[in-house]
Amino acid sequence: MRRPLTALLALASLAPIASAKEGAGADYRIDWMTSGQREVTRRLEEQPLTGRARNVILFIGDGMGISTITAARILEGQLRGESGEDNALSFEQLPYLALSKTYSNNQQVSDSAPTATAMVTGVKANDGAISVDSGLDRDETDLEVVTRHALPTLLEQAEARGMATGIVTTARITHATPAVNYAHIGNRDWETDRLLPTGATVRDIAAQLVEAQRRYGIEVVMGGGRAMFLPAGDADPEYPGRSGTRLDGRRLHEEWVAARPESAYVWNKAGFNAIDGDQTRHLLGLFEPSHMLYEEDRAAGSEPSLAEMTGKALDILERSEQGYYLMVEAGRVDHAHHAGNAFRALKDSIALSDAVRAALSRVDLRDTLVIVTADHSHVFTIAGYPERGNPILGLARQPGNTAPQLALDGRPYTTLGYANGRGYSRLATGGDTRYGVPPAPGRHLEPDWTNETEDEGYHQEALVPLESETHGGEDVAIYAGGPWSHLFRGVMEQHGIYHVIRHALGW
Ligand SMILES: [Zn+2]
Repeated sequence: MRRPLTALLALASLAPIASAKEGAGADYRIDWMTSGQREVTRRLEEQPLTGRARNVILFIGDGMGISTITAARILEGQLRGESGEDNALSFEQLPYLALSKTYSNNQQVSDSAPTATAMVTGVKANDGAISVDSGLDRDETDLEVVTRHALPTLLEQAEARGMATGIVTTARITHATPAVNYAHIGNRDWETDRLLPTGATVRDIAAQLVEAQRRYGIEVVMGGGRAMFLPAGDADPEYPGRSGTRLDGRRLHEEWVAARPESAYVWNKAGFNAIDGDQTRHLLGLFEPSHMLYEEDRAAGSEPSLAEMTGKALDILERSEQGYYLMVEAGRVDHAHHAGNAFRALKDSIALSDAVRAALSRVDLRDTLVIVTADHSHVFTIAGYPERGNPILGLARQPGNTAPQLALDGRPYTTLGYANGRGYSRLATGGDTRYGVPPAPGRHLEPDWTNETEDEGYHQEALVPLESETHGGEDVAIYAGGPWSHLFRGVMEQHGIYHVIRHALGW
């Protein structure tokens, strides 16, 4: 009953007429007529699926705007030795596409909390809001008041209907995007009781995950954020020099496991590998004290990839008789962009593409709605007039030129850049502790200077000096396949995603 995407994947390969690039001026012409006609054939073959969706997988690239997707697509192709522009990421081969308007109730350029809330509750919310409506003050600490403003989430509604549910992220599991599934709170920063104002009766986000587990039981929870679950006195199992954050002394991971039978907690790759999806009903994986490592740095740690976590989640969720709802977030595309470090943002976007491919290789699009989108964009641009196949992380070089293009100040510039952030010349020294990106140069490029921009830690040039690069306000894309995915078309309001999902599920 599976429909592998072989047919779709075959469409992606556009064989160049010329062989691999040999220096500047290589010929990347392909059979344009045939490849263009394939675009028509592919669309003619696609029939809308109007049966009820049994399962829903919502992939979110946090901060993965369209320029990020274009650059990641080129980088992925170039890492395989191709020119890159005609490459396609896995989710770019899904049949339907819409633009998503990401403004929130009170922000023109939004943050993750209200945008993720819009997608999983169907309501645009305010800055900071985790699945609460805009009538609630961000700083409200009274549990009863907060509860009055709580918005029911897709995950909660799926659980109430007997479906299995899962949340997978590379960020802390208590971070805004994953938290909107199970928590209700006005301030996204209240991830642990240490960060709650004194006297607050509303529970911190990590504690709310345990409450959700007692109330209805989520099947799969994987990501980072161990420190939010451990008491301040407990050393972290992987980094003994670091400790938990909780002031209430609770060991929330133990409470989570005790809440439901057949539950397991893992915190490293070995534990993750030992989990048999047929034996485990509820899995909690917390692989770092804070966020998981960037894909680029993952080998240095002991954690599964986003694709591996997605596969393990499906091992467990596919056993459900009533279908499942799964959110998978590439949470650190956003962080690398905030740091002004395109390399890590693109590598994490490619890791999301790998996770989507892993899911598409095993789900049946006749009964599973697959959506890939972003919560918001970043001020990330692809500029200059570089020639085909020019390294996407490199200096802009025009067709036929081996020397980089020079700006009015006599210095070269990179194809990729930011409208604001750390890559401003006077700031771009020293490390970036907030986003875990090592020290790197910014703009002190000299005309003979070539390779450094492709180094993993490079901070692309920025126009406006800011400590942290900001989100972007233009629309993001929604890619979709499966039942009712044809409703994702045209320009849509972001909270419409929730309503299409409900329609597809027949709710
Ligand atoms: Zn962000």
